[in-house]
Amino acid sequence: MIQELDQEYIAHTYARFPVTFVKGEGALLYDESGKAYIDMGAGIAVNTFGAADKTWCAAVSEQLGKLQHTSNLYYTEPCAKLAASLCRRTGLKRVFFANSGAEANECAIKAARKYAFMKYGDESHATIITLKNSFHGRTITTLAATGQDAFHTSFGPFTEGFVYADPEEPESLEKLASANQCCAVLFELVQGEGGVRPLSQSYVEEIKRVCEKYGLLMMIDEVQTGNGRTGSLYCYEQYGLSPDVVTTAKGLGGGLPLGAVLFGERTKDVYDPGSHGSTFGGNPVCCAGALSILDRLDDALFAEVRRKGGLIRELLAGCGEVTGVTGLGLMIGVETTRPAKEVAAACLAKGVVVLTAKDKVRLVPPLVISDEQIKEAVRVLKEVLQESSAE
Ligand SMILES: *Cc1c(COP(=O)(O)O)cnc(C)c1O
Repeated sequence: MIQELDQEYIAHTYARFPVTFVKGEGALLYDESGKAYIDMGAGIAVNTFGAADKTWCAAVSEQLGKLQHTSNLYYTEPCAKLAASLCRRTGLKRVFFANSGAEANECAIKAARKYAFMKYGDESHATIITLKNSFHGRTITTLAATGQDAFHTSFGPFTEGFVYADPEEPESLEKLASANQCCAVLFELVQGEGGVRPLSQSYVEEIKRVCEKYGLLMMIDEVQTGNGRTGSLYCYEQYGLSPDVVTTAKGLGGGLPLGAVLFGERTKDVYDPGSHGSTFGGNPVCCAGALSILDRLDDALFAEVRRKGGLIRELLAGCGEVTGVTGLGLMIGVETTRPAKEVAAACLAKGVVVLTAKDKVRLVPPLVISDEQIKEAVRVLKEVLQESSAE
């Protein structure tokens, strides 16, 4: 009934799996028949503390019962406190709140353009370098920023001013930086949708060098890697970077829509009143929930994220149908002999939710998943992989 209604009345932008989830608890989800699933997807790396997390629910409900929205014409406590906490913990200087990853990236792209406009007095240095195989969102501009040809059809004309460097090829980056009048490099440290591919430390050092040499802003898209997912508050810490702009979303809100752009010293005053905005951005309910998440993202939790990531790798080691494991912390890509899409469908039928990213199986469970749940999920994944090799 629900699936038929959805099929008839919802635009067909998603090829949904034939499951209707009705509730959850931590890393468990339940469908309408009461069947339980171990959640290795967290709603695409969003439900940081899993489903129906009590602390988060209480924070959200409390704010909801007081005031759900004010617009950005006025001050609210959760929004100011969340921004302060993000800045104090990262050393970045100011925050703009958006409602999604794509919007956070739009805001960062606009900031880079305006920074260049203020610096050069005209629009001569508007070009932004991104990486091939990246993903930055679904708006026309963030699609243009996304370095995959597959995203650059059917919707043109796209926003101009993006050039794409080959990841792990420093010459490609330097060539683009010298041949174009650029203002910024925008990149993910672990290319998520592109197949959970971490950049090497040496390549990241090259990005840093090129940014310094050509006066480019370093803008890191931490929409997926951020908020504890990779084993630190933000992934750039593990690479020893001091970015000018950081964008994030997904796990920050813990399940409510919230995006953020963090500005460093060089970019903190780029925007002035009226130059950018959002009706819903920084919504007090979303921010109250996010604060309850951020407060619990501490070193002990990050150590657990890294340990659990290690446990998944250990459990997968030696499995003949696994040809590679990539990623950081609890953001893991599994290369399998059986096609990933097929693996995801078969796992779901056996009560385990996994995602895919390009040709890989992607595991991004809630950070609070238990060792037992991990063991059971990986057991099912291996069983599904072995089924195919037996055929
Ligand atoms: C998911 C994602 C986005 C887009 O986020 P939305 O909230 O879907 O707009 C952008 N960048 C990266 C790295 C992502 O993983």
